[in-house]
Amino acid sequence: MNELLAIRGLRTYFHTESGVAKAVDGVDLDIAQGEVLGLVGESGSGKSVTALSILRLIPDPPGRIVAGDILFKGRDLLKLSWDDIREIRGNAISMVFQEPMTSLNPVFTIGMQVMEVIQAHEKVSRREAHRRAVDILTEVGIPDPEQRMKQYPHHFSGGQRQRVMIAIALVLNPSLLIADEPTTALDVTIQAQILDLMLEMKARRAGASILLITHNLAVVAETCDRVAVMYGGKIQEVAPIDTLFKTPFHPYTHGLLGSIPSVEGPKARRLTVIPGSVPDIHQLPVGCKFVTRCPYAFEPCPDNEPPLIEESPGHWVRCHLYPHGGKAAI
Ligand code: SF4
Repeated sequence: MNELLAIRGLRTYFHTESGVAKAVDGVDLDIAQGEVLGLVGESGSGKSVTALSILRLIPDPPGRIVAGDILFKGRDLLKLSWDDIREIRGNAISMVFQEPMTSLNPVFTIGMQVMEVIQAHEKVSRREAHRRAVDILTEVGIPDPEQRMKQYPHHFSGGQRQRVMIAIALVLNPSLLIADEPTTALDVTIQAQILDLMLEMKARRAGASILLITHNLAVVAETCDRVAVMYGGKIQEVAPIDTLFKTPFHPYTHGLLGSIPSVEGPKARRLTVIPGSVPDIHQLPVGCKFVTRCPYAFEPCPDNEPPLIEESPGHWVRCHLYPHGGKAAI
């Protein structure tokens, strides 16, 4: 695997009046060149904080990255100066957020916002920036881009605004696109179009990778090469996408898969519910973070955190049911 990004032992904590919230508590994750990696989990599992930590966008205070390394093409992003990290943002790693209306500035035209990104990172004339802005808006499927450049975000539909955000994120041809719930605010048909667009744009950029953050495993199934499942600030399972869907190991992954509706099969399947809710991050369990909701919890689970082990080649799991190579049937 040709590694693009390697996260090692990342811990991002928030100091609040209620105590220390360990939003990300020891995350190890790799993204290969050309790969689409899905990061899934419920709200509050630490997915977005992991993404914001990569670009050092954690508000400090109350947040702080207290430990770990984030190696991007061999450089530790956590040790770069603010000038260097600003250069990385947008240029080498860019991000698309959930709600395009809050990411776009309502008082500037779309053209100004695309051109601003180009001119902030490259010494090009206004004419050249304009030409490149028209080109990228054409590429993301905005019709009549010359005219639309003169319009404001409120003139665009939700799907078109997200296309503009993808254009802004990719106009400098970054190596890594982080997409944080990019389709959650859109209706289902537009969701599919936006996911297809991201994959098409990636295919046109040799070696580019995507980190796709979502709570929706169905979205991951259609777009990703591998998937990492996160819960309680930790990675609980990592596997190639087909493997995870065919032979999930972790009880939490079983719960997530069981809650996906399916119209296939001879008779309708009853959806399963993961009992309880995500624990308060100020008071996470000492041992396995899933212990309060796990139907398979047994003696070592409350007090001992299981390690993340490679149970089969490329398939990692953090659960006492898988003690270093032993298979357990769920
Ligand atoms: Fe369940 Fe124990 Fe495995 Fe945690 S370690 S997921 S509580 S069986």
